[in-house]
Amino acid sequence: MDGGMTPAHELAIIPEGMVADLLTRQAAFDAVERVFAAMAAGAAVNFPVVREALGHEDALYGFKGGFDAAGGVLGLKAGGYWPHNLERRGLINHQSSVFLFDPDSGRVKAMVGGNLLTALRTAAASSVSIKQLARADARVLGMVGAGHQAKFQLRAALETHRFDKVIGWNYHPEMLPGLGAVAADMGVPFAAVDLPGLVEADVIITITSSFAPSLMTAHVAPGTHIAAMGTDTRGKQELETALMAQATVFTDEVAQSISIGEAQHAVSAGLIATDDVTPVGAVINGTHPGRVSDDQVTIFDGTGVGLQDLAVADAIVQAAVAQGMAIIVPL
Ligand code: NAD
Repeated sequence: MDGGMTPAHELAIIPEGMVADLLTRQAAFDAVERVFAAMAAGAAVNFPVVREALGHEDALYGFKGGFDAAGGVLGLKAGGYWPHNLERRGLINHQSSVFLFDPDSGRVKAMVGGNLLTALRTAAASSVSIKQLARADARVLGMVGAGHQAKFQLRAALETHRFDKVIGWNYHPEMLPGLGAVAADMGVPFAAVDLPGLVEADVIITITSSFAPSLMTAHVAPGTHIAAMGTDTRGKQELETALMAQATVFTDEVAQSISIGEAQHAVSAGLIATDDVTPVGAVINGTHPGRVSDDQVTIFDGTGVGLQDLAVADAIVQAAVAQGMAIIVPL
């Protein structure tokens, strides 16, 4: 089983520098939507996340892996965060690589640079949630966060849904022009707002590294869809727990949502139960109705799962092989 890709005796290498030419936003969206559906149907499984402090260069290093039996994709993403990379080496601080294996034999099949891939698969996840859960008449997009990921989030959301206006708040307001530039590039007006000003938004994406909530219940209008994308570690938090309690909560993977995702706080405070968190794949598969009213607040707790990385890496390998761009190494 090799999905029509490289023969099992060859390794395909797709270096980081090639990924931008090989992965379209649409391909990332399709791969992520498909694997979220497979996860909810029980046909694809994420393995427990390993994340360790190395005690070297202050780095955090780990693995996210899984097996998508439906798609024939097995592998892992290895990498993490090296906080001194930029100042000491001129490299970005987040570094990761994806390895794919032949699920029939266990032989390594592909190695794919994982840095741009991570940004595009994360943006695809919030976009999938917007397609599935936002009101069809949503026209104002609110952004909380203006860092590296926020720009990818904004561009993907504007490509997924017709928004007429973008408003944004950031803890470090001097970073907001970066978002304004993306909106301008997409031909959509942008305005900086204070947190209460976000009440004008129909969809809000939060993508910060905060350990304390920024978005409160009072900042959110009825009917809003929130894609909470920043909380991917124990202790991080972007939303007031009362907001989680009053909303209908969806996620990529329930086990991650309640342990390292945004739901960790509302669950440990006893405000919501594990059963209150639904995989968005159930909405894609039609086994959960998703949004059922125009004044319901929906939240997608995007924690980032290994299968997202593998699905997108598989799409990159297929494109690289089809276009003759993969570096093929005999095994
Ligand atoms: P970044 O360092 O480029 O940006 C960080 C953002 O958080 C900035 O907007 C900054 O102003 C804001 N911020 C910092 N301290 C804050 C505070 N105390 N209160 C409110 N906002 C604060 O980081 P990034 O690469 O854009 O990543 C943002 C977050 O997304 C991180 O937490 C990262 O781990 C997470 N992430 C999640 C996924 C996923 O799949 N869910 C994937 C990649 C990254």
